[in-house]
Formats: sequence, C-alpha cells, structure tokens
Amino acid sequence: MALLDYKLPEAGLAGSYIDGAWHRPMDGRKLTIENPSRREPICDVGRGTSVEIDLAVKAARKALPAWRALPASERGKLLAELGRRLEENAEEVARVLAAESGNAIKTQSRGEATGAAGVLKYYGGVAVEQKGETLPLGPGVFSYSTREPHGVVGSIIPWNSPLQLGSVKISMALATGNCLVLKPAEDAPLAILKLSELADGLFPPGVFNVVTGLGEEAGAALASHPGIDKVSFTGSSEVGKLIGHATADRIAKLTLELGGKSPTIVFPDAVEDERLDATAQQVANAMRFARQGQSCTAGSRLFVHKDVWDVLMPRIAEKSAALRVGDALDPDVDMGAVVNSERYSEIRAYVVEAAEQGAEFLIGGIPAEDPAGFNPVPTIIAGVDNTWRIAREEVFGPVMAAIPFESEAEVIEMANDTHYGLAAFIFTHDFSRITRLTRAIDAGWIQVNQGGGQIPGMSYGGTKQSGTGSEYSIEGALEAYTYRKCVTVNVEPGA
Ligand code: NAD
Repeated sequence: MALLDYKLPEAGLAGSYIDGAWHRPMDGRKLTIENPSRREPICDVGRGTSVEIDLAVKAARKALPAWRALPASERGKLLAELGRRLEENAEEVARVLAAESGNAIKTQSRGEATGAAGVLKYYGGVAVEQKGETLPLGPGVFSYSTREPHGVVGSIIPWNSPLQLGSVKISMALATGNCLVLKPAEDAPLAILKLSELADGLFPPGVFNVVTGLGEEAGAALASHPGIDKVSFTGSSEVGKLIGHATADRIAKLTLELGGKSPTIVFPDAVEDERLDATAQQVANAMRFARQGQSCTAGSRLFVHKDVWDVLMPRIAEKSAALRVGDALDPDVDMGAVVNSERYSEIRAYVVEAAEQGAEFLIGGIPAEDPAGFNPVPTIIAGVDNTWRIAREEVFGPVMAAIPFESEAEVIEMANDTHYGLAAFIFTHDFSRITRLTRAIDAGWIQVNQGGGQIPGMSYGGTKQSGTGSEYSIEGALEAYTYRKCVTVNVEPGA
C-alpha cells in the first residue's frame, strides 16, 4: 500500500487558518506529523506560537460584533452546510484521520467522519433554539432574559477523536454566536485542517480560526490570552488543571472535558443463556479496544459478579482476541495503532508493572519493546487488586483490568473509588437495580446494557476530576457558551 494513499490538506505547511486565509508560521517553524501504524512521517505543518495565537484572537475579536448579530438561524445554516460538505468528503477526511491518529478506517475513522458531520448538522438545526425567560411583574412591567455569547472562545482538543471533538467545539461556539480559535493536538491536526479547507469561504473571515502547534506553546498562549473570554478544553485531567490556573486570573469561562477510568459492571442476570452473547459483545464495545482503548469513556475497569465470571470472561476474551490488529488504513483491520511512541511506552510500562505485581493475562500480554507499528494487542488482566495503578489510572490503551465482585454494595464502593467520574456501563435487566445503581455511581454518562458512543442531542460531560460542563446538546451549549442577560422593562412608569 502506498504511503500517501490519501490526499493531504492543501494548506500544506501552513497549519494556521486565520482571518479566512492560510498563514505560514512566522519563522518557518514546523512540526512533523507521523503515521503511528507505519512509523513514517506524513507531512509537516506549521508550529504556531503566541504570535499566530495573537493574530487569530485579534481576527476573532474583529469578526465578533457582526457574527453575534447574525440571526441564529443563519449561523445554523452555515454549520449545517459545513456538515454537508464534510459528509460529501467523509471518505477522504476519514483516510487522513486514520493515517494520523492510528484509528482504524473500518471501525473508527469512517464512523468519526460521518459522526462529526452529524454533529455539525445537529447544531445547524437546533441553533435557533436559544430561548430566554419572561416574567410579568405587573401592569406594563416585565422581565425577560436573552442568551448572550461569551465572545471569543479558545478551544483545545486531543488527538484521540480530533474530528469529532473539533466539530463539537466549532458547532457549540459558532451556533451560540461566539467566534472561535481552535488548537488541534500536535499529533493529529490534519483532519481538522481538512475540515478547515471545507470551511474556507463559508464563515465570515475571523469567525473560525485554527492554529496548529504544541500544547506548551500555542495551547498555553491560547488559554492565557486576555482576548479569550472562554476556554473549552478536552484532554487529560493534568493539563485541564493547568488550563484552570491559566484562566483563573481573568475569570475566563471554562469547560473541561477530561479523563476517565470508567467502570463496567456485569450482574448475573445479564449473562443468562440467551443474553450471554449480546452482553459479551456490548461489554467488549464498552472497553473500546477497537479504538486501542484510547477513548475517554472506555469502560476500562471490568467488575464481573463472581457467579458468572467463568461464563462471561472467556466470551469477552474470545471477542476481544478476534479483533484484527494492524495498519489503520487497511480496510480489513479492526484495531489500529496508538498515537505515538510515548503513549505506547506508557501503556507498556503499566502492563509490565501489573505483570510484576502478579497479574494474570486472560488475553494479550506485555507489548513488544520495539514494534513495527505502535500496535499493542488487546489485553485483559485478571487477578488485579483495585488499589493497583492499572485499576486506578487512565492507561489509555487496550488494557482492561478485570475484578470479580460479590455484592451490589461492594461493587458500588469499588466503582466510585476513583477521582474520575466520566462514564459507567451497567449490565442488568433488573429495573430496581438499574435505578439504584444509576443513582449511586458517580458518572456524567451511564449506559445500561450497551457500550455505545456519544449522542448528538444528549448532554455529555463528567463529574469529579473528569471535568465540568457538558457538550453534545443545545442545552449544554447554552449553559457553557452563553450567559443569561436579564432585562426588566417598565413600559408605563408611574401608571
Ligand atoms: P493532553 O491533555 O495531553 O492534550 C490535549 C490538548 O492539550 C492537546 O491539544 C495539547 O497540545 C494541549 N496541551 C498540552 N499541554 C498544554 C498546556 N500546558 N496548555 C495548553 N494546552 C496544552 O491530552 P491527550 O493526551 O492529547 O488526550 C488524551 C486525554 O484526553 C485523555 O485523558 C482522555 O481521557 C481525554 N479526553 C477526554 C474527553 C472527554 O470528552 N472527556 C474526550 C477525549 C479525550
């Protein structure tokens, strides 16, 4: 297979899309983007710094008055049009995404491209739903409220699903009348650059800007820029805390979508004969092995009731081991590569440590030390104590820590014994248990008897150190990207 069997962004080395035009980095600084499946360079993009960030913020501020004054229905039409363009070019964009992120075209990248188009179209449709409140206070006197955009939003996104997350950030900011400066991750900016090409000429100049670069350079400059009214960050909890510090002095508004260590809990009734196969499949989906486990919502701690452990675990192991691992652009591959050598080494270190602690490998094992592509194999580890690092920290790889439990109370305690609170997966058909568990588990998003992805229209976000704010719905966008302005009017003073 040829190295470049996809079309690179025409923007080439530019990297920054500012004020409706492509900008090469001021001093020619660049970043090399690599294909982690093949361990080969793909191309270079600009390594923007505070200089490009400043230009982009100024362009956004200039564009803001006219953009926020545009009727929401008109803003929505432009977002829907971007969604339509992405849909038309989905295959091309998906190939770029698979190459840079390592996410398999067959199971992940193609779905991400069409899903991102769906997000843009969803927000395009609901942009008009920005209603306020009214309160009659007496004859000729009433109060009403409107939704006002915060102003210029700075968004920073990670590499694990850059197109989907970028589309959410673009949609939420622009639908609500804000202008945007977006910084994609240094490992995977190309799909976002492709999307920027599709957006070229669509929005008024300055409304939508992109600056590629490193987190500690362009990212930090964006978070701390005084012209940024709101920061919307998706990434690790560690960097989320730095962003919180960077925005605190000027009380910039903040949305944080951070990491997770989500529990997947299986009760015996979910494994009764005819349910066994469907449950095993949905548990396997929740683990997100097909995305190399590189999903914030991955159900990476598996708690299985001891009475059904021997029945369920072999079935989950069989389904996970059946995933075909390889080059993300190979149309037959189910599971691609993790994004870079550092991530691969981190995952490896977690597995080595668990092995040294005496863990038992149901499938998989210690990843190779110097692989041809960064492809760890699906790994399920039993004999794990809930206090081990592998059971507590976000491994962000295809590594599942499986722990048996005996009672509902015990599993709730173990599930909540983490500083994360992003997602949870509960497998039972007992409705009373469902209501008890969904109440008791600390998580922003709980799925019962399934392991699916985020749904446009349903608010999504975490609690505890998994974040603050919610995305994917118009309600989330209004809460996070606007403030309420209340006006009291007396039309007949003295009457
Ligand atoms: P990361 O925090 O290392 O990087 C995320 C982004 O922040 C990148 O664009 C990076 O360049 C930038 N960045 C890094 N240092 C910065 C700094 N000092 N100032 C400003 N920006 C900086 O995260 P990652 O490793 O790219 O992504 C994986 C993490 O993202 C995982 O923890 C995962 O759970 C989380 N995530 C969360 C969600 C969610 O919706 N909750 C979704 C996807 C990923």
